[in-house]
Amino acid sequence: MKRLLSGGTVVSGKGTKRADILIDGEKIVQVARTIVCPEARVMDVTGMLLMPGFIDAHTHFDLDVCNTTTADDFTSGSRAALRGGTTMVIDFACPNRGESLHQGLTLWHQKADGKTYCDYGFHMTIDDWNENIEREIDDMYAAGISSFKMYMTYPAMMIGDELMYKALKKLKEKGGICGVHCENSGVINALIAEKKAAGETGVSSHPRTRPAALEAEAVSRLLRIAQVVDIPVVIVHLTNEASLHEVEAARKRGQKVYVETCPQYLVLDESVYDSDDYSHAARYVCAPPIRTLDDQKALWRALRRGEIQTVSTDHCSFTLEQKEAGRGDFTKIPGGVPGVETRGELLYSYGVTTRRISLATMCKVLAENPAKLYGCYPRKGVLRPGSDADIVVYDPQADHVIRAEDMVGKAGYTPYEGFVTRGGIAQVWLRGQLAVDHGTVLADCSGKYIVRGKNSL
Ligand code: MN
Repeated sequence: MKRLLSGGTVVSGKGTKRADILIDGEKIVQVARTIVCPEARVMDVTGMLLMPGFIDAHTHFDLDVCNTTTADDFTSGSRAALRGGTTMVIDFACPNRGESLHQGLTLWHQKADGKTYCDYGFHMTIDDWNENIEREIDDMYAAGISSFKMYMTYPAMMIGDELMYKALKKLKEKGGICGVHCENSGVINALIAEKKAAGETGVSSHPRTRPAALEAEAVSRLLRIAQVVDIPVVIVHLTNEASLHEVEAARKRGQKVYVETCPQYLVLDESVYDSDDYSHAARYVCAPPIRTLDDQKALWRALRRGEIQTVSTDHCSFTLEQKEAGRGDFTKIPGGVPGVETRGELLYSYGVTTRRISLATMCKVLAENPAKLYGCYPRKGVLRPGSDADIVVYDPQADHVIRAEDMVGKAGYTPYEGFVTRGGIAQVWLRGQLAVDHGTVLADCSGKYIVRGKNSL
């Protein structure tokens, strides 16, 4: 069946233009100023902004951490994502230590296949390194996985500088790309021990034991290792100005560095940890922690200048009941915040309408750049003939207030409670189907696994 979205303004990484969009089945077949197609069902989108479906390249659904499991599995998480305009997520497949990458991949397909509302792919986590895993890397590309993840913190996940070097060298052979969680593990452990010895076990010790300098140190070390290997890398969830300086220095040396940040670092600041109410403060605990207002400004500036390529959420949701586990010991608070449902409206409301970034930049960091970086462009990330008809219809007039009670995610709270939006998502189309209409999810679990190729950003 053909559909015609008529009268809207189409957004791309280059800017905006008045155009109609003709859809045939799952694909866009024409984008032009005026399209006449008598057999198409017409949807009037006059006054609306039409953006490529957002891609969230950093989610954790159905993940076991801190002796519990995230509140959102693939079903509830992807349903929330879709409602927030995200038509594709890239989650982190994570083998248990001692298991093969194949086992990790099989497990993630079991979690996601047939249970996901939006399209999806996986990054593969490298939390161990040996000859077997090295051989498996080739198979991962064949399975549609062109991106990987490593950790410089968390004892259960990190593999250390020596193995990180070896792993990056292997990925370079294949033209692969790796995202890295940058925080200095050793010094953080020492700071945690100091806080515990001093009896300071409340939530405010969380940000104090994970200062910006220790993120910047790890960013710097990673970038020097990448320099020796001669491979581009992705700094995931970068939070602060000091880390941006390290990126800038590496780029001046001629290195290719990609940077991701997240909404929680753009619209929240460290004062969220000040509350005496444990349950209120604990809901914002994530790593790296939320930083200062100056850091927030530096991130917006870097977004505007094109120094940050993607905004993802690091959606890792826990209910307030689950967050209770850290009462009396901040190191036991399950770390992570929900965000997959609110990313697009926050970027538009607190970035575009405040003139911190342009609409084109919003489109780049939410859709076009992640599609290119993670090897699914131009199928995803752009509205043009041949692309999947994944379309966000944004109504610039539909201002509203973000409320937990309206969310379909399972956390039961939102870090953005009470935030006023400018405009809102009116509709979301997933491969030619109207999947969300004014907040109501119409789709079912028809999300497809997307086989990805190489980085083209
Ligand atoms: Mn993460």
